[in-house]
Amino acid sequence: MSRSDLLARHREVMPGWMSLYYEEPVEIVSGRGRHVTDADGNTYLDFFAGILTNAVGYDIPEISDAIRARVDSGVLHTSTLYLIRQQVELAERIAELSGMSRPKVFFTNSGTEANETALMLATQRRRSNQVLALRNSYHGRAFATVGITGNRSWSASALSPVKVSYVHGGYRYRSPFRNLSDADYVRACVEDLREVIETTTAGDVACMIVEPIQGVGGFATPPDGLFGAFAEVLDEYGILLVSDEVQTGWGRTGEHFWGIQAHGVVPSAMTFAKGLANGMAIGGLVAEAELMDCLTANSLSTFGGNPVSTAAATATLEYLLDHDLQGNAARLGARLLAGLRTHAEGSALVGDVRGKGLMIGVELVRPGSAEPAPEAAGRVLELARQRGLLVGKGGLHGNVLRLAPPMTLTEEEAAEALAVLTDVLTTAEKELRA
Ligand code: PMP
Repeated sequence: MSRSDLLARHREVMPGWMSLYYEEPVEIVSGRGRHVTDADGNTYLDFFAGILTNAVGYDIPEISDAIRARVDSGVLHTSTLYLIRQQVELAERIAELSGMSRPKVFFTNSGTEANETALMLATQRRRSNQVLALRNSYHGRAFATVGITGNRSWSASALSPVKVSYVHGGYRYRSPFRNLSDADYVRACVEDLREVIETTTAGDVACMIVEPIQGVGGFATPPDGLFGAFAEVLDEYGILLVSDEVQTGWGRTGEHFWGIQAHGVVPSAMTFAKGLANGMAIGGLVAEAELMDCLTANSLSTFGGNPVSTAAATATLEYLLDHDLQGNAARLGARLLAGLRTHAEGSALVGDVRGKGLMIGVELVRPGSAEPAPEAAGRVLELARQRGLLVGKGGLHGNVLRLAPPMTLTEEEAAEALAVLTDVLTTAEKELRA
C-alpha cells in the first residue's frame, strides 16, 4: 500500500487537529543508532526524536533485552494493585537522582498525566485552584494542562478548571525585555512575577510550573538562576515550584541532570516523560513526600508504572549514566551551538540560536527584521529531509528549528548534521530573498 493511500486513510479516520510534518509525511519503519529508515528505504539521521522518545538512540541491546525479558515472561502487565518489582526499582533510582530531601515517585503513561498529577497535588495541598505559568509554555493536552499552556496554537480549550496567570521568563526573544542584560532580565521577570501575584491572584496560588527550557515553545532558554530568583518570591507566599522536566531531564541539557539545576533550586516536584523509556510509553513525577502524600483518596493509573515501561526506563537510565551521555550532550551540544552561531553571524535568516546540550533552537526571521519566518522553517525541514536529516520545528510562530538528536550522537554525526543544516539554511535564505 502506497504512502499517499495511508495518508488519505489517516486524514479520513483521524482528527484534523493531528498535524503531520512534511508535505509528504514520513513513515519510519526501522532504526539503528541515530538513524531511522522510512517505508521507501530512505535512511535519515534523526535530529528530532531524541527528545520525543529515543533519548539514547535506536536498537540498544540493553534496552531491547529488558523489554524482551518481560515479553518472554508472558506477562506484560497485570495490575498496579499488585506489587511490581520493576516499578519500585525505577522509583528508587529516580528518587536517588532527584536531589530532594524525601522524594516519592509516581508513574503515569505520559507527560500530560504527570503534569495533571502535579497540579492535582499542588492544588489539593494548597487548597487553591490558582496556578502560575510562563507565557509560551506547553504542559500537555488534557483539560487542566492545556489550560495552563500559554501558546494559542496548542491551547485547544479555554474552559479549564484551573485559574492560570502567566508571567514573563520563558520566551525572551519576543518579550519586551529582550534587550536587557541577563541580570536586568532576571530582575524584570521577578518584578513581573511579584506584580502578577499581587494584582491578579489574590496571593493564594497553589504552584508555579516552569519548563527549564521551553520545548514546544521553541527551545526558549532563560538565563541561569532565573527560577532560583523566582523561588525566593514564591517562598514568601508559600507557592510551590513544579519543574516540568519532560524535555529537559536525564542530562540532555549537558551541564545538569535536571534542567532546573541550572537555577540553583530544588523544586517541590519534577515531572518527566518522553525519552525516559527510550520509546515505551512512560511519564511520572518525583515530589517531596509531604506533597506527594497529600492525597487522601485512592488514585491509580492502570498502565502507569507497568513492568515493561519501567524495566525499559531503568535500562535507559542505567545506559545513559554508564555511558556519560550527559557529558556527551555537553560536548557535542557546545560544538553544534558554536557552529550554528558562526553561521548565524553571516545569516539574515537566523535571528537567534539558543539552547543547551542537545536541545538547540534556531529561530528563523525574515531577512532585515525580527519578523517570524515560519515558511522558511518548513522549507528547511523539507530540504534537510532531502539531504537525509530529520529536524523538528516549533515555537509560537512555527519558525524555530528544534535540534534534539539521541544523546549517543557521535562527533561525525554532529559534524554531518551541522554541514547539512548550514547548507540548507543558506539555500532557504536565498529562496526567501528571491
Ligand atoms: N510537558 C512538556 C514540556 C512537553 O514537551 C510535553 C509534550 N510535548 C508534555 C508536557 C506532554 O507530554 P505528553 O505528550 O507525553 O502527554
